[in-house]
Amino acid sequence: MELSGLQIFKYLPAAKKAENSNCKKCGSPTCMAFALKLAKNQTKISSCPYASDELKELYSDSLKQSQKTIEINGLKIGGENVLYRHEKTFINKTALAVIVQSEKELERVLNFKITRVSENLGVDLVITKGFEVQNRKEFNIISYDEFLKLPLENIRDGGFTKTAQDLISTRINAIKNKDENYSKPVYVQFDKASNFNEICAKASFYICKYANLLVFEDFDEALFTTLITLRQNIFTDPQKPLQVESKIYEFNNPDENSLIFMTTNFALTFFAVANELESLPVPSYLIVTPADGMSVLTAWSAEKFTAKMVAKTLKKWNFASKVKNRKIIIPGLLAHMKEELEAEIDDFEIVIGTIDAFAIADFVKNYK
Ligand code: SF4
Repeated sequence: MELSGLQIFKYLPAAKKAENSNCKKCGSPTCMAFALKLAKNQTKISSCPYASDELKELYSDSLKQSQKTIEINGLKIGGENVLYRHEKTFINKTALAVIVQSEKELERVLNFKITRVSENLGVDLVITKGFEVQNRKEFNIISYDEFLKLPLENIRDGGFTKTAQDLISTRINAIKNKDENYSKPVYVQFDKASNFNEICAKASFYICKYANLLVFEDFDEALFTTLITLRQNIFTDPQKPLQVESKIYEFNNPDENSLIFMTTNFALTFFAVANELESLPVPSYLIVTPADGMSVLTAWSAEKFTAKMVAKTLKKWNFASKVKNRKIIIPGLLAHMKEELEAEIDDFEIVIGTIDAFAIADFVKNYK
């Protein structure tokens, strides 16, 4: 199992209040800073001359890869190091593959695409059986024979309880016991579907625990939309907030007199506000400021939402010259920044908007 910074710190001189604590010989200001860097592989254990043999052994153990990674035309499968996402992060999302047996089916699968939280998503791997495909290099397509030769472990779908138990015990043996016999990425193959709801329930569980690849003999758009949505949530790295591009978004063909809103580039905030603006009976702009994917209040407290940064964003997009409206509506949670913002941005007056996105429609109704 990978070591966290705190686990490493426990073995360093500062944690034991020993001689040489925080001596800086490793190049980090404290033992804790060194431990955190080491956990992220940003430094070498040999940089600390006082690291104990016990720590060296534990650390070199933690570097051993628990599960192998395989790659199919750029699609990475496996390579997991932890049992739970909150321990660190999951590495490669459960890949979704479909076996197709005719050109017609192939077109249906290849045409399936959804966009969610700014990601374009579809079927990860198409496996053809009984016919050959040519000139479709933009898609990840392999033959069934090629698929069978991949170094993957097949966990047979032998009923829900049995399959789930096999998936869990395989992953535990790979991660906790680092048992070579369980180091191959695993897949579950579903037979022809008689009941998509049942397949959806099983596949949802197997995505959570612990299939690296799911192979379906039948394709269904609703099934894949559900699974892709679940998978996107499970495999989001909790250390990297989902973010959207920082720019000026337009809703319902705005002109120079349209309403102007502002928020940060945290994806959940953006989509909540964007949905409201889309359904307004009036057009609007939404200025999305760069904030490393933080929500408005977090961004403000981390100094990622500052008056200077807002002024810079407006300047970057030359926004003042594009509109006659001189009022920007900011989130209600940032009401305390009104004066600071107005002092920094000469061209615009700041209006305090709503705290919650769902209140925007009522706010606009009463807005003069
Ligand atoms: Fe701590 Fe070792 Fe770095 Fe000194 S060299 S600060 S003991 S980690």
